[in-house]
Amino acid sequence: HHRVVVVGSGPAGHTAAIYLARANLEPVMYEGFLAAGIAAGGQLTTTTEIENFPGFPDGLSGPELMERVRCGESSELSSMRQQSIKFGTKIHTETISRVDFSQRPFRLWREGHDEKDEDAILADSVVIATGATAKRLFIEGEDTYWQAGISACAVCDGAVPIFRNKPLVVIGGGDSASEEAVFLTKYASKVYVLVRRDKLRASKVMADRLLNHPKVEILWNKIPIRAEGDRLLKNLVIEDTVTKERTNLAVNGLFYAIGHTPNTAVFKGQIDLHDTGYIKVHPNAGVPSTYTSVEGVFAAGDVQDATYRQAITAAGSGCMAALDCERWLEGQGH
Ligand code: FAD
Repeated sequence: HHRVVVVGSGPAGHTAAIYLARANLEPVMYEGFLAAGIAAGGQLTTTTEIENFPGFPDGLSGPELMERVRCGESSELSSMRQQSIKFGTKIHTETISRVDFSQRPFRLWREGHDEKDEDAILADSVVIATGATAKRLFIEGEDTYWQAGISACAVCDGAVPIFRNKPLVVIGGGDSASEEAVFLTKYASKVYVLVRRDKLRASKVMADRLLNHPKVEILWNKIPIRAEGDRLLKNLVIEDTVTKERTNLAVNGLFYAIGHTPNTAVFKGQIDLHDTGYIKVHPNAGVPSTYTSVEGVFAAGDVQDATYRQAITAAGSGCMAALDCERWLEGQGH
């Protein structure tokens, strides 16, 4: 019987665990095992260079930040995972596949051990930090050029040298595609926006910004077919959805902006979710918080944030969840 279980091991889960462990709540983390296609450590383990996380002016790789290696000459281990362990978090490389939040203590089951009720893990409180997965289309050549020209995060990757003063393409027609495209005009020589239909789904303000931008060209009724290049992406074969004609688009970068899927399938029916699948959190005593619809269950990071979706904001809300949880447990007399 645990006082608190943390589900997920991205920046939100680890920051929550660090705070909970330092508060002597002996957190137990289920870090996931290829959960939803993402390994332990979360989305950052799929990226090469992080340059916007404060404290690392020379940048560092996602796997370095999340889970390993020694920092320069120092013998200190640098990762978030090591910091969680250092303060006493117990980490299990397993995925949570079933939960019952209808009674306290809450019950959680691990994948492969979720059939029998008696295999349940019991917890007085839970921090959900299962993150989200950026949607991709998995076109031909995508795996070859993933992180070698293809990305799902313009804010994260747009400024890297391979994209500077180069033609780029954004895939998508909604607000996030518009935002990413306008953002990329700061670095790119030109930004194409590939839109599947003949209109944008973006809000009028965002659409106007895009349509009037001198560096942006919108390609209507087009879908991506194949990524080509040498070591890096050089060309995208695109198809007209009306005429079926295929043409080449010479680009050095392709950015997906077709949305994210929050990893909440396990929690459906147990806590309130938005229509989009993100966990609903609500203010506590009038202040923004990580409280969910179930008292004692808190949610942090991308799983409850469709707007900011950055490592630092995920870490920030992980800290909030730990503090919310600690105070809630205190109030319960634990
Ligand atoms: P995640 O990082 O998504 O982690 C969720 C964790 O939960 C994963 O470990 C997963 O395995 C686990 N999990 C899921 N379901 C279960 C389950 N049922 N049981 C147990 N575990 C489970 N942000 C930046 O600030 N700077 C960058 O440079 C940057 N680059 C990026 C590059 C790429 C390619 C991508 C995709 C994102 C990038 N981001 C960047 C965004 C950043 O990665 C996310 O905002 C951040 O990782 C969100 O953290 P999180 O803790 O909420 O969730």
